[in-house]
Amino acid sequence: MKVLVIGNGGREHAIAWKLLQSKQVEQVVCAPGNGGTATMSRCENLALEVDDFEGIWQFSQQAKIDLVVVGPEVPLAKGITDYLQARGLLVFGPTKAGAQIESSKAWAKALMQEAGIPTAKSTVFTEANAAKSYVKAQGLPIVVKADGLAAGKGVVVAETLAQAESAIDSMFGGQFDSAGDFVVLEEFLTGQEVSVLALTDGSTIRALLPAQDHKQIGEGDKGENTGGMGAYAPTPIATPEIMERVQTEVLEKAIAALRKKNIDYRGVLYAGLMITPAGETKVLEFNCRFGDPETQVVLALLETPLEELMLACVQQRLAQMPPIAWKDGASATVVAASGGYPGSYEKGKVITGIQVAQDSGAIVFHAGTKLDNSQLLTNGGRVLNVTGVGADFKQALDRAYKSIESINFEGIYYRRDIGHRIAKTS
Ligand code: ATP
Repeated sequence: MKVLVIGNGGREHAIAWKLLQSKQVEQVVCAPGNGGTATMSRCENLALEVDDFEGIWQFSQQAKIDLVVVGPEVPLAKGITDYLQARGLLVFGPTKAGAQIESSKAWAKALMQEAGIPTAKSTVFTEANAAKSYVKAQGLPIVVKADGLAAGKGVVVAETLAQAESAIDSMFGGQFDSAGDFVVLEEFLTGQEVSVLALTDGSTIRALLPAQDHKQIGEGDKGENTGGMGAYAPTPIATPEIMERVQTEVLEKAIAALRKKNIDYRGVLYAGLMITPAGETKVLEFNCRFGDPETQVVLALLETPLEELMLACVQQRLAQMPPIAWKDGASATVVAASGGYPGSYEKGKVITGIQVAQDSGAIVFHAGTKLDNSQLLTNGGRVLNVTGVGADFKQALDRAYKSIESINFEGIYYRRDIGHRIAKTS
């Protein structure tokens, strides 16, 4: 079969890589893809933007694409699935109605309340003064969230009144355009964050291995937030008891609540969870797609052919699939970023050493790279995801770190402490 993967990040490279391990998948096309998907055998890039629905449809028809897999949230929130499904294509990813679980935090919070899913206490506001009064009444810290999509920048954990008020003013003042028409104020939770990505056909939902990521740029989880500087799976913090609770109290309840709204949700439901010091599991957010970089570590351990799982979701027969099979051991990914990221950084730096890194045992997923006259150049903030798989976390991390040493580009930066929470628990 031929699969079209929409997106250009490390997540999409990992999806394409995993799909191509199956004999059933002859070819993968990535739109627009990156330097990694351009150089992988049986994979090619297509120069189309992720929201060019008509271009994607015309290509899919002409190239006889059997399955479209949508990576990022933006085209899902804009209704790519509705558009392509209406034209007869098989699409892995929820419809616009389902994608609201990520594209509107107020909508997601209401769904959680209706379904009785454990989450932080919150209130939605439509103007600044009422929001500011609420902050004064509730006390600090408090979490201020723009309702809509804000590329991961729409959440401020305010420790002072001034921070809370400034976040409220910026969001209502148009910092994120209409994404800030509503602002959610949420109780601040402490604990460890875990990402559970689950596959669903709209009725059955199956969790993948739990992962943890490191959001901050600096070692010791300090400094500015990023899209993610590293990740590992399966995290032992999500014990079998916790995963059982996530299945029944979060995932199944969410799918039942979506069905009650007549939403036919087929794709990934990603639960961002806080495991509190008291051992409670509370939902911080839902996403309507695979996480990045969690996907890279989860798919590195997947044994079941990915296209079989995706087709079972799309064709609504996930319940008939055997249990998902996993490799033993662990995986970890270290993100190599451009100097200056998440602030301003330069692009177009020559990347060397990827082959040597792969020969040292790592899988190198590309994120912000591009192929220019057969030269590999940096093309984004997060450039590469160097991923190690091993019998345990130590082996997986050693493999990733040993391999990343061979890679070079001007200004390369990566954290040396990915997985430090695991070292503390094991
Ligand atoms: P992303 O898509 O990048 O994960 P987002 O903009 O959708 O981010 P959230 O995931 O809801 O936003 O929040 C981002 C981060 O803010 C969380 O990963 C967590 O670290 C912190 N956060 C969110 N809500 C809370 C909360 N109630 N208590 C404490 N921290 C929180």
